[in-house]
Amino acid sequence: MQSASEFVEKHRPAGGKRSSKRDLIVQVFLGQEGHLSAEELTDLIRQSDKRISRATVYRTLQWMVDAGIAGKVDFGGGKFRFERAYRHPRHSHFICKTCHQSFEFLSSDIEALIEEVASAREFTVRQSMLQVYGT
Ligand SMILES: [Zn+2]
Repeated sequence: MQSASEFVEKHRPAGGKRSSKRDLIVQVFLGQEGHLSAEELTDLIRQSDKRISRATVYRTLQWMVDAGIAGKVDFGGGKFRFERAYRHPRHSHFICKTCHQSFEFLSSDIEALIEEVASAREFTVRQSMLQVYGT
């Protein structure tokens, strides 16, 4: 199985240069389970390196989303959370609109359906996320 750094290398956009700050943020992020807010990740990063600004963490999160390293999940109430894509199979979320708790489920039927519709439209899926809201 590929290592986290191989995974990041593979997803690094062409011409994207390496940065040690960004590498630290990516490593810390990939070490986390579950769904993190940008604020929570900033707090974790600043435990390792206080010189890293909130803006750098936010920029790096967006870079990870664009590169397919992280998924951005809308948990409602204007709150976004981030989860790693590395060693994390594609999954769907049930999200409670009252308490904002979530749980994940896997469905090969949903995956197969997305692939079927995508291939019929000659569309290449890079990332998909199904969010089911309820109470
Ligand atoms: Zn998730």
